[in-house]
Amino acid sequence: LLDALIDQIAVAMERVRLAESADEARMLSETERLRAALLTSISHDLRTPLATIMGTISSLRTYGALYDDATREEMLAAAQEEGERLNRFVANLLDMTRLDTGALELKREPVDLGDLVGTALRRAQPMIGHRKVDVSLAPDLPLLRLDFVLMEQVLVNLLDNAAKYSPPQSRIAIRARQEDKQVIIEVMDEGTGIPEDALERIFDKFFRVKAADRQRAGTGLGLAICRGFVEAMGGTIVAENRTDRTGALFRIALPLSVAPEPEGAASLA
Ligand code: ADP
Repeated sequence: LLDALIDQIAVAMERVRLAESADEARMLSETERLRAALLTSISHDLRTPLATIMGTISSLRTYGALYDDATREEMLAAAQEEGERLNRFVANLLDMTRLDTGALELKREPVDLGDLVGTALRRAQPMIGHRKVDVSLAPDLPLLRLDFVLMEQVLVNLLDNAAKYSPPQSRIAIRARQEDKQVIIEVMDEGTGIPEDALERIFDKFFRVKAADRQRAGTGLGLAICRGFVEAMGGTIVAENRTDRTGALFRIALPLSVAPEPEGAASLA
């Protein structure tokens, strides 16, 4: 359905562009269109998982006794997964709103990248499934003064995508190293990669590469949020295609200046 929304927006924008009179253009006001389409899509995205959850509950209440344990467990697991998707979608919307309204508050604390990567991996596990994840963190990486929760969200979004856009048996890699005055974190997958002309646009709100994601659920907000959060912490994030094989590579650079003062020094906060 989100794809339908995006098509709808594209059509609306085209009509505005082609409108013959100023009046007509105003009538088709792009913003109005976008807003209406966005609301439709959001309510749909909320309603679909809710329908599954409600359906499961009602089915278990009515026929619960007829199912064996394994079936009940399967139904509950599916409902839980939908619940998590719902949660993530709402979190994404709230994050986007916080970014748009400048209401993002950073709670910086000294962050160990090993902890951060471990936490993100645990949260992304349901999406990662059976894919193998190679984690390679350079030894002696400094602590960085980051907002742990925001940075975790960035990594979870990247890991979710790495899984979502690659085959079930493929591998995902996360690397971190220090380079000059920056810490570089890379997340890469073995999916189809990203068309060259979309490498920058995938960070736009609601942008999705059509061919690659028709079948997959998503909002087109994940990477916009990643960029917003990383930039709020003074860093940059870019997408590339891997050169060693097919697959996408996302590279985050965080300035070392976000490293905490040496022990005993006054807090920067
Ligand atoms: P969503 O995944 O909800 O569509 P994102 O903002 O996370 O939104 O991603 C935007 C688009 O970028 C995706 O729809 C997909 O086309 C493309 N994309 C993101 N990550 C990858 C990846 N790892 N491999 C291939 N394409 C990707």
